[in-house]
Amino acid sequence: MPITDSFKARLYPQLERITSHFGTPFHIYDASGIRATGEQVKETFSPAGTFREYFAVKALPNPAILKLMHSMGFGFDCSSVPELMLARRIGARGEEIMYTSNNTSQEDFLVAADEGGCILNLDDISLVAKVPVMPELICFRYNPGNRRSGNAIIGKPEEAKYGVSHEQIVDAYRQAQQRGARRFGLHTMLASNELDYSYMVQTAAMLLEMCRQLELELNIRMEFINIGGGLGIPYTPEARPLDLAAMGREISRLMQDFRANYGYSPALYMESGRFMTGPHGVLVTRVINRKEIYRTYVGVDSCMSSLMRPGMYGAYHHIEAPGAEDRAEEVVDVVGSLCENNDKFAIQRTLPKLVEDDLLVIQDTGAHGQAMGFNYNGKLRPQELLMREDGSVERIRRAETIEDYFATLHFEENILAAEK
Ligand SMILES: *Cc1c(COP(=O)(O)O)cnc(C)c1O
Repeated sequence: MPITDSFKARLYPQLERITSHFGTPFHIYDASGIRATGEQVKETFSPAGTFREYFAVKALPNPAILKLMHSMGFGFDCSSVPELMLARRIGARGEEIMYTSNNTSQEDFLVAADEGGCILNLDDISLVAKVPVMPELICFRYNPGNRRSGNAIIGKPEEAKYGVSHEQIVDAYRQAQQRGARRFGLHTMLASNELDYSYMVQTAAMLLEMCRQLELELNIRMEFINIGGGLGIPYTPEARPLDLAAMGREISRLMQDFRANYGYSPALYMESGRFMTGPHGVLVTRVINRKEIYRTYVGVDSCMSSLMRPGMYGAYHHIEAPGAEDRAEEVVDVVGSLCENNDKFAIQRTLPKLVEDDLLVIQDTGAHGQAMGFNYNGKLRPQELLMREDGSVERIRRAETIEDYFATLHFEENILAAEK
């Protein structure tokens, strides 16, 4: 999907200035766009009652972005120790952080309990006995199994490794209660990049039904339901955007009905990543080579270490070449330099005829872009820039260097001798 007209109008005229100051490649994010989406989400769900978004840190783990989210009153969904520490470094504390790990280690639990703790979201019934100290407030991730159909990226719930099964869920809360928990929340996460809003409405309905069942069986009331993330964005020009307004309307109605029937309702939490930042970032990269063999290849100065989604999921990312729009078109593969044939940003894509030194803008890289990068083949991850609300551009992460790559290697020997 082409980036917002507003971001385009602020970015494209400045591209040459930005690239000559910072160099290429880079991801650049639009603070105004992220704030506009954040405010829209808050407004959309305000009729539901108490609402809070917990931004999924893994989508875009950068302190400048987390500060922006925090300034809108959002909390953070973390699923590893470094993500927890990152959220705390920008000042998030206690119930502003939800810790949703899986295959959780004892170290995870210890760090989660540090510095005023966080909302602990347990992924399995066996973990009730393994938490070193049962917090007052506890949440479980629910996996409905074959009660729900799955989604292309996460797959069918009954094949997913996550969560507590339907058969175990009441017992899980009972055991947590016996270990001293007094306050409760209920979480699920079933979809990824889902564009059909009614799937999210069904998720909210499923969780509310489960709240009712838990109250009847255990006499406990859920303080919140967390419907997870997974709200999709339209990557292709043809895709229709998720109907957020309808999702807000229908979920708010469910919450209001629940309140009318039972005299209370839980708070509504969501932990969206992609929807919040995905459309508000682009990867800017320069053409460095052209190659004509059986196909025409346009080689750029970044590779899949900057953006895994095309290589990993065959995902489509829209590409524009500002300044080249009027040229004749041709069909090309846009490729990086990794020794992997799936290192292609686009396959058989119609683009204006590109030449060396052209700039390409690869779109919708604001979530699961830089964050999913890796160092295979000695490839380094690029810098990240932020276009701030006043129009200035800030570097919010430097590019990796060879020294970073070498930092975990040692050239001195460290040997455990064979047993005699
Ligand atoms: C990845 C993840 C999210 C965010 O998913 P998006 O598709 O980016 O919205 C939220 N919650 C959990 C537990 C996750 O693993």
